[in-house]
Amino acid sequence: MKIDAKVAVVTGATRGIGLAVARRFHEVDIIVVIVGRDSGLVKKISDEIGTSDIPAIGITTDVRKPEDVERMVGTTVDKFGHLDILVNNAGIIRDNIIFNTSLEDWTDVIETNLTGPFLCTKYAAKEMILRKYGRIINISSIAGERGGAGQSSYAASKSGLNAFTRIAAVELGRKNITVNAIAPGSIQTQMSDDLLKKSRKEILPRIPLKRIGKPDDVAGTALFLTSDEAAYVTGQILYVTGGLGVTYKV
Ligand code: NDP
Repeated sequence: MKIDAKVAVVTGATRGIGLAVARRFHEVDIIVVIVGRDSGLVKKISDEIGTSDIPAIGITTDVRKPEDVERMVGTTVDKFGHLDILVNNAGIIRDNIIFNTSLEDWTDVIETNLTGPFLCTKYAAKEMILRKYGRIINISSIAGERGGAGQSSYAASKSGLNAFTRIAAVELGRKNITVNAIAPGSIQTQMSDDLLKKSRKEILPRIPLKRIGKPDDVAGTALFLTSDEAAYVTGQILYVTGGLGVTYKV
């Protein structure tokens, strides 16, 4: 095992954006901890990504549960001795108009998209502080600034995550821990599949780069935020949208 390799926890790394981030990190010799709720998938992905010099491990975790998150961070540190990077990527969407949104759906979205990153940051930052180094990346959404009808729970969770990002950056800056968010636009994954099947034709003309984003587009930005080139970047929301929403009229 490479002795000086950095260790990253990536939540929701069993598919979509999180999986692309995990693969990209491994390519540059970062040890990745694959986090998700499906234990079979968590094992399969960590087995696929890990190699003898740069291992990957899977830890089945529900980011909504404090006891799961505490155990996940503890196991990571027991195994590798430190934790340097946290990508709070796990997220869900339950779009519906407010009148038809159940309290259960509302709570599920807020707990996964906002409470999850809070819990992961709380336990991971304790470890990062010990080594006076850390990079925390929250995967937000353009909906946190400009959500549409039917997105009340999702937009509120991502808006809250943006606010959380700024406060965490202020609190952790003196410990040399940067905290930033990436706000993707429309990225082709399982989460966006239904929406894109219905609305691709309406969305595409509004994107200046004229294509739907790929998980790798987000992974590249995450990699930048972990690099030395981004050492002085903190408290920022980086939009990875192909330009979607930058002007009133495209
Ligand atoms: P996917 O639905 O493809 O993947 C979501 C991942 O999160 C899965 O690995 C899922 O695994 C995991 N997950 C969900 N709930 C939990 C939980 N409670 N605990 C642990 N893991 C969980 O989504 P995307 O890759 O599209 O989205 C990733 C992030 O990017 C999300 O935060 C999303 O809001 C954001 N985003 C996505 C956009 C898009 O267009 N796709 C646009 C803007 C933002 P499992 O369910 O097995 O636990």
